[in-house]
Amino acid sequence: MGSRSENNSPNHEKENSNKTGDENRGVLRKRKTTLQRRNSAPNLKNLPQTPTTNSTSNRTSRPSYVIPKKEQIRNRKLSGPRPKTTRAASPINYKVKEYLARADEKIEDYLERIVQNVDSAQFMVQSGVQKLRDWKATHFEKLPAFLRDNNYLHFGHRPELGNIAACFRSIFRIHTETANIWTHLIGFIAFVIIPIVFYVKPFCDNCHEDIKIPDKLIFLTFFIGAILCLACSTLFHTVSCHSKHISTIFSRLDYAGIALLIVGSTIPWLYYGFYCQFYTKLTYIVAISVLGILTLLLLTMEKFDEPEYRTFRTIVFVALGLVSALPIIHFVFMNGVSESIRQGSLVKLVTMGGLYLTGAFLYAARIPERWLPGKCDIWFQSHQLFHILVVAAAFVHYHGISEMAMRRLKDLGPQCPTLSVTLDSTNIV
Ligand SMILES: [Zn+2]
Repeated sequence: MGSRSENNSPNHEKENSNKTGDENRGVLRKRKTTLQRRNSAPNLKNLPQTPTTNSTSNRTSRPSYVIPKKEQIRNRKLSGPRPKTTRAASPINYKVKEYLARADEKIEDYLERIVQNVDSAQFMVQSGVQKLRDWKATHFEKLPAFLRDNNYLHFGHRPELGNIAACFRSIFRIHTETANIWTHLIGFIAFVIIPIVFYVKPFCDNCHEDIKIPDKLIFLTFFIGAILCLACSTLFHTVSCHSKHISTIFSRLDYAGIALLIVGSTIPWLYYGFYCQFYTKLTYIVAISVLGILTLLLLTMEKFDEPEYRTFRTIVFVALGLVSALPIIHFVFMNGVSESIRQGSLVKLVTMGGLYLTGAFLYAARIPERWLPGKCDIWFQSHQLFHILVVAAAFVHYHGISEMAMRRLKDLGPQCPTLSVTLDSTNIV
């Protein structure tokens, strides 16, 4: 109430009248400036002028358009995104936009697939690693009876896995059989490649004629023996921890492979050593083949599969090897030592025999783990050394029989003149 009486005083009325006057003047000023703006003509001086030589164009009242120069267009492109202009989409533009939309969808699909594939690959790797770790290395004392082969190897044994896939995955883990598997697996791969090269390329690069087909085919007995021996051995050492039944089957195959290698190695040597003595050659080849089959049958008997027959098995193999060496003695008597060294690759034969016998001795005596129990669990155990020596002996033998074949081709020739003369004279008589 008090404030209203103060506002109604004559002084206040004067002040109010002054205020309203000022406000009215402000409003009028604003209206005036707005009208001035509306009525004012555009300042043509400030507009950009088009450079032209025609003087009449300046005089016309038509609006002039500025055509941008190349430099200006380039600068505008670089300066940033263009202002959006609304243009009516042509059919081509529409198709392009549709195509780009489809391309975007496809790219998204591909990216999704790539991500999914990466995820599934990651999952597979993780599950593979998990599967590889699904068993722990075991102490000798905890092994089942059929896996207790060498008591000098204390730790690092595979337990009974009971699964073929797990056995094969164990190839990539470190245990007592790792080196046994890999030594013969690498040898097997080598002896698969060597025959391919042997039969594809000419036997002698510098000779005018190639080796005769039967002379080349006889090498097959050696290649087949080596491949089967190394394959059976690799398989046995891989799956021996599956179960007693599987271990028994593959251990017999392993022995069979060794017998095949001995017989297969001997046949090409007999073929070239008694090249022109047909009946002697045939007798020896048949004899060694029969002995090989007998050894094979003997060693595949269930009784001889037990660990206590280890020495017996070794003796059988050594006996087969020595019987195979009997024709060599015959050959030396026939040709003399120096000629036997030259013709029969005697040095290679002796080296091969030495490697086999050393391997067999280490295998039977369990050296060096006998002297270092528990120290050769993973590396340098007798069986690994035996494997390495077997592969080395096979390579030496291949070199030896190749030398004999080369000598027959280059020096002696594939014909047997002495034999033909004898046969002719016999016929005449
Ligand atoms: Zn073995």
